[in-house]
Amino acid sequence: MNVDKLLIDLEKKHPGELEYIQAVREVLESIEEVYNQNPQFESAGIIERLIEPDRVLIFKVPWVDDQGQAHVNIGYRVQFNNAIGPYKGGMRFHPSVTLSILKFLGFDQIFKNSLTTLPMGGAKGGSDFNPKGKSNAEIMRFCQSFMLEIWKLIGADVDIPAGDIGVGGKEIGYMFGMYKKLTNEHNGVMTGKGRNWGGSLIRPEATGYGTVFFAQEMLKTRGESLMGKIVTVSGFGNVAWGAIKKATELGARVVTISGPDGYIYDPDGITGEKIDYLLELRASNQDIAKPYSFEFPDSQFHEGKRPWEVKCDIALPCATQNELNEGDARMLVANGCKCVAEGANMPSTPEALEVFLDNRMLYGPGKAANAGGVATSGLEQTQNAMKLSWTAEEVEAKLHLIMVNIHEACVKYGTEPDGYVNYMKGANIAGFMKVANAMLDQGVI
Ligand code: NDP
Repeated sequence: MNVDKLLIDLEKKHPGELEYIQAVREVLESIEEVYNQNPQFESAGIIERLIEPDRVLIFKVPWVDDQGQAHVNIGYRVQFNNAIGPYKGGMRFHPSVTLSILKFLGFDQIFKNSLTTLPMGGAKGGSDFNPKGKSNAEIMRFCQSFMLEIWKLIGADVDIPAGDIGVGGKEIGYMFGMYKKLTNEHNGVMTGKGRNWGGSLIRPEATGYGTVFFAQEMLKTRGESLMGKIVTVSGFGNVAWGAIKKATELGARVVTISGPDGYIYDPDGITGEKIDYLLELRASNQDIAKPYSFEFPDSQFHEGKRPWEVKCDIALPCATQNELNEGDARMLVANGCKCVAEGANMPSTPEALEVFLDNRMLYGPGKAANAGGVATSGLEQTQNAMKLSWTAEEVEAKLHLIMVNIHEACVKYGTEPDGYVNYMKGANIAGFMKVANAMLDQGVI
């Protein structure tokens, strides 16, 4: 494999798709050595077939607002690879959504899903629709219109969408309702469903819980735990919320959350009633950071800034891609941060990654550290197929074990001669090997 040539060709074919190229580059650089040790991969064109999605659906999503005005958004579903199981990956509704972002997410999802050890391929979808500030009726009409296009492409054994930025239980409910109406089937076609109609306990918290479990495993390798540690978190969404809950439960103090407008620093820790207050704000589609600082006057709102300037032991980026750059990484190192576990997908820029690795930090990349979300989606599918529900304790125990196993796989493939564990390399190689071997078994298709 010639990484430079592959990337040049890919950029020519897909000009301007920066996030996609960034994600492919990271994986290719990690797996280059092991790929070249296996000539059967080269002759079967594994990498050329893996870096292009199997198919992409792009469509318009017309919908009508509460004033009777029609709007049009763009919808996408990127089905990347189904070598080890049906396509699986979330839906993102956010104005920043582009094909490049969904291709990067779908590509990374292949390796993440492989790491979970569950039979799931990689996909991603979404729209540039912004649910913020929209009424429930508007969100419902949008979700119904969106489903009118993708229902033909998905299925419980074909492609199983889930949530992501801007898509939580409410949006999943509206989309599932329309799917059910169109197909007359009530099955496990989507995950992140409501508890009363096929959802799994712990799924809402699972990504954040998993990220903290992964951080816990990394800390253990240096004889440490979360007890007494100061933690900075970015975002306050599906992922951040679970991460804050679990980190606090394990004895850490979480001192920040953030939104696109800035971050909150709360030295007393974000716990209990404060989390409930934040969840209320989110449920009513409101900004969270400023109102929080009014409600809890001991906290401070830092407008237009990111939380990485705050002194911490552990940083958990849980908002969005490329939200932590080289300068932020250097600030974390200077402030004594020892561990970064990514709840978000690709939140650290390539330059920030170099800083983490150069400083021998415990760095858990998103595709390993946030795999608990999709893993628990896989557990939801299993419960749907068996037509039964596990208790919260059962689901959490399975999630915990999956995260411990992902950590072990990263250590196995990522330990360097001096003993440092490069979790990024480990996650990419471990995820890749399984998919590549499945592709070899199934022939050139
Ligand atoms: P949510 O929409 O629930 O939360 C996202 C949070 O990040 C919100 O607090 C949002 O603020 C903030 N945010 C969004 N864009 C920006 C930005 N440009 N700058 C700063 N803050 C921003 O999404 P999720 O929690 O579901 O997803 C967060 C990340 O985790 C994403 O990278 C996603 O791909 C990844 N992920 C999610 C999984 C899941 O199970 N949901 C699974 C695995 C990974 P505001 O609401 O004010 O806009």
